[in-house]
Amino acid sequence: MKDDYGLSIWGENNFEIKGDDVLVSYGKKPTLLQITKEIREKGYKGPILLRFPHLIKKQIDLLFSEFKRASSEFNYKGAFKAVFPLKVNQFPNFINELIEVSNGHNYGLEAGSKAELIIAMAKTPMGAPITVNGFKDKEMIALCFIAANSGHDITITIEGLNELKTILEVNREFQQEFNSYVTPKIGMRIRLHSSGIGAWAKSGGYSSKFGLTSTELLEAFDILKSNHLLDRFYMIHFHIGSQMEEIGPLKKALREAGNIYADLKKRGATALNAINIGGGLAVEYSQVPKSKSRNYSIKEFANDVIFLMQEIAKNKGVKEPDIFTESGRFIAASHSVLIAPVLELFSQEYHEKSLRLKEKNPPLIEELYDLYTSINRQNATEYLHDAIDHLESLLTLFDLGYIDLEDRSNTEILVNLIIKKAISLLAEDSKELVRLQNKFQEKYLVNFSIFQSLPDFWGLGQTFPIMPISNLSKKATQAASIWDITCDSDGEIAFNENAPLKLHDIDVSKEEYFLAFFLTGAYQEILGMRHNLFTHPTEATIKFDKDGNYKIENILEAQNIMDILEDIDYDIGAIDKKLKSNIEESTLIDETQKHILLGKLYLYLSENSYLKTIQATKG
Ligand SMILES: *Cc1c(COP(=O)(O)O)cnc(C)c1O
Repeated sequence: MKDDYGLSIWGENNFEIKGDDVLVSYGKKPTLLQITKEIREKGYKGPILLRFPHLIKKQIDLLFSEFKRASSEFNYKGAFKAVFPLKVNQFPNFINELIEVSNGHNYGLEAGSKAELIIAMAKTPMGAPITVNGFKDKEMIALCFIAANSGHDITITIEGLNELKTILEVNREFQQEFNSYVTPKIGMRIRLHSSGIGAWAKSGGYSSKFGLTSTELLEAFDILKSNHLLDRFYMIHFHIGSQMEEIGPLKKALREAGNIYADLKKRGATALNAINIGGGLAVEYSQVPKSKSRNYSIKEFANDVIFLMQEIAKNKGVKEPDIFTESGRFIAASHSVLIAPVLELFSQEYHEKSLRLKEKNPPLIEELYDLYTSINRQNATEYLHDAIDHLESLLTLFDLGYIDLEDRSNTEILVNLIIKKAISLLAEDSKELVRLQNKFQEKYLVNFSIFQSLPDFWGLGQTFPIMPISNLSKKATQAASIWDITCDSDGEIAFNENAPLKLHDIDVSKEEYFLAFFLTGAYQEILGMRHNLFTHPTEATIKFDKDGNYKIENILEAQNIMDILEDIDYDIGAIDKKLKSNIEESTLIDETQKHILLGKLYLYLSENSYLKTIQATKG
């Protein structure tokens, strides 16, 4: 049986397998391989991050259409609004596309820091909402006033009473300096008694970093009232944590927030009109059915939110609130795919050509050779057992000094060749085969950095779907562990028996072999670390025209070596001078040769830091 790499679980019909290839299920359905090759032919080597704006659009349309559907089914009176939380992906080639494809939805941005706020102020279309969360100082609050008075629909969500006091302070200053101005809308983040679940649950619950307790909420209400600012109090907000795998905690949080909303409204918060339910919509990353991570659909999510808010509003006799969401992962994750070339298969050195058989070999090696040449479907299991047995004996003989290094090398090669042959001969799902495959894994050296491109794998054990983008009509027999090119032993995605990744046995000196890492569009880019000074990979945006033809835009190459060093504040002028003078003063070569050497040096300095070649044209 051929492997679909769990595409039916995580793929959301965004990609499909046809013959050997992975197709983008859009437009004229180009293959990932074709797109990759076209970019590499322009001279870009190393890993490439492909962005697909049509997938951003798909997610935004889905979010809005599901809430629209639920609202009309329940005849809900409040509006549905959404913002994209910038912390999930602030990269310009993503944000610019997001703004373009969300045109028509009045989709806005959420900022959690001053720099993000500046992006929000510059990129949010006028009229679309901006929400501001996180800890804020006076400057950040003043920036919100600037945004409001430039015409933006901006809500400052306060995380604590001090922030409210700072808002009052800035408001007083504006009162003194301006004869007319607008105060931004004010939101209050509530500290929920219910908390989320999973790796990111810390964002909610009593011990959460954020939000006002009931006591503080009442106090904030009184402060707003006595300062005549109740008419700016517009929203309450909560966020129960990212990658919410079950719907249960959300329902609890909705009930809690809904009752707080109703209570404050009855108390006289007349402008209060919205509940912001934060983010948390989960993405299915699993490649195997048994580790599926999400127990609800977007449809169920929208239904629950609308139904519960309506129920509470009805029971309490208050107006149905507008609903805001700040889902980020759900919008961004699927839009990018990282394509990375395989540089090497570690066992490829175990080649028949490399055998150094002697005139007379130790008897066990002669036997191994016989096993290798006569193994077939019928005897495969037995011969395999014999080979593994011989391996143990021969290694012991080496330790005791009875055989030499050449014999040991022959042993390793023959046993590896026998295992490979046996694996390709044996029946599909024999337990024995699975056990063997798991034990004898192939290590794939891949031209990328896990620290840079999959930091959540390194930091949180979050897995991402992985598959080759060629050879898919052939059975993949190698249990694979993936090694990146950093010199850090953590830069490995080890083989996992519960979610086994099988790859093809490819001679990469003859044939290119690329792996694709999917769902990397949320959080990974900005969290990516420059460990070993590997930087953000080369990126490209893949757009489709009306006829369904794709075009490659916005190619941005990974930083070159000198730029990387400058980024961490090296004096690159001094480095340049030093390298140059070392060559000029060298007594080992003559003037012409020095010239050639300098030329080579400058060529290398201008290139990105990913590996260029190991095999002839790879990398
Ligand atoms: C991180 C964050 C989000 C986005 O969460 P996702 O899980 O990516 O949807 C939304 N709102 C707030 C306040 C956040 O901190």
